[in-house]
Amino acid sequence: MAPHVPTTLPTSLRDIALSPADDGYDARRAVWNATIDRHPALICQCTTSKDVQNAIAHAAQRGCKVSVRGGGHNIAGTAVADGAVMLDLSGMNRVEVEAATARVRVGGGATFAEIDAATQAHGLVVPGGVVSSTGVGGLTLGGGIGWLARRHGLSIDSLVSAEVVLADGTCLHASESQHPDLFWALRGGGGNFGVVTSFEFRAYPMRPQVSFGPTFFALEDAAHVLTAYAQHSEHLTRDACVWANLMTAPPAPALPERWHGQKVLTLMQFHAAPQDEAAQDLMPLYGGVAPLGSAFAPRPYIEAQSFLDEAYAFGARNYWRSHNHLSLSEALITDLVDLAYDLPTPASELLICQLGGAVGDVGADATAFAHRHVPFLSTPGVRWDNTKDDAEMIGWLKNASRRIAAHAAPGAYVNFIAESGSADKAYQQHLDRLCAIKHQYDPGNMFCVNQNITPIPPPGAPMLD
Ligand code: FAD
Repeated sequence: MAPHVPTTLPTSLRDIALSPADDGYDARRAVWNATIDRHPALICQCTTSKDVQNAIAHAAQRGCKVSVRGGGHNIAGTAVADGAVMLDLSGMNRVEVEAATARVRVGGGATFAEIDAATQAHGLVVPGGVVSSTGVGGLTLGGGIGWLARRHGLSIDSLVSAEVVLADGTCLHASESQHPDLFWALRGGGGNFGVVTSFEFRAYPMRPQVSFGPTFFALEDAAHVLTAYAQHSEHLTRDACVWANLMTAPPAPALPERWHGQKVLTLMQFHAAPQDEAAQDLMPLYGGVAPLGSAFAPRPYIEAQSFLDEAYAFGARNYWRSHNHLSLSEALITDLVDLAYDLPTPASELLICQLGGAVGDVGADATAFAHRHVPFLSTPGVRWDNTKDDAEMIGWLKNASRRIAAHAAPGAYVNFIAESGSADKAYQQHLDRLCAIKHQYDPGNMFCVNQNITPIPPPGAPMLD
């Protein structure tokens, strides 16, 4: 069936545009978080930078805002907005690996599954997130934390350059030497400055086999193990990264059946070393407690990267909060364990992500990412299916988040914030500089469907028309 397109659409967009009456429109406007149900005026399925420029020109002419869809994972649903022109970049997913120079060029709509497959074919890796269906675009522009963060830093720390289409349609390259202010802002400032049509990353050698998997502990032992985790995790080698999760036990073969469906503490462990060496490094985190079971084992890197994909599949309703922690205090651990007993659905969780290591090697002001000094992030999340439960679930999480916030440092990771309007928390000490760069590159705030940075001229700057 030929797509239904309004006759006023320019010919340049006719072959790539979906309007509300078209087949495929509903599938493309849907995002990972099913609580998001928004209706863009038009979806442009871009496959080239020229498509992006044409779509932006059309939005500007119509006075529409623009939203950008990479992998569609953003918890706040910032890929899609009512009445906007949505640029769907999922067709821009090419990954080119130049093994000799360890450089990787990635289309603006690729996922980490696509990067991992292409780089591992050459024994290389680019640091990404922990779920492989996540978009490279959104994850990278917000910072990018994952299993390799302690070894190689954030995803932005491996970014060498980016090709960007700006609000006025200009396409330029940003790097340390070209438009360095824009390059600084792209590394942590989210999708505020333009559409990145191509990312260039530095890649690193990685053994094809890593040590990876969950080790489960009874909730009764969780406070003791979390205390050991809090004390010892900074002493792990940089090959290791461990996230702690208070959650409901899955029906994992590694766990005796009587624990399936019970509340547990899971240490999800990544280690680049062979298993024996890795186990020795990780042992102090257990605090001498015997686990209920463990699936920590040698696995191909790609399997580790996609191990959690099924648990976080598209289509459920979700609500999260994000907190920074300079340490995991006894009082915080007590509250977390207490809250874990009342998690409202089996897929809900209280997650602690570990940073540190190479993340702190980069200067606090070298990129727009504001949280390099933070060793732990907590991300409490509820996940449910029925619309009728929305208020109860979101209410539970907000209450839990209030208790956690009492033990938290200021700020929140931009990629884990469920509601818009949180620029101050996300960008913190860098907000003023980001506002000035926003004013330079997007003075009309065309890219406003995000944790939005207000364009503000720096003091003393001449006013723009
Ligand atoms: P989208 O919803 O498509 O895009 C989000 C925003 O990013 C858009 O509004 C836009 O502003 C911007 N954007 C995307 N692509 C471009 C582009 N090419 N040019 C300009 N702007 C663009 N984060 C981590 O750091 N580490 C993790 O391990 C991690 N795991 C996650 C697991 C799950 C299951 C989920 C749902 C999220 C996870 N995240 C993680 C958070 C993730 O980084 C953010 O949700 C991020 O916004 C997702 O990017 P996306 O391209 O998939 O999202």
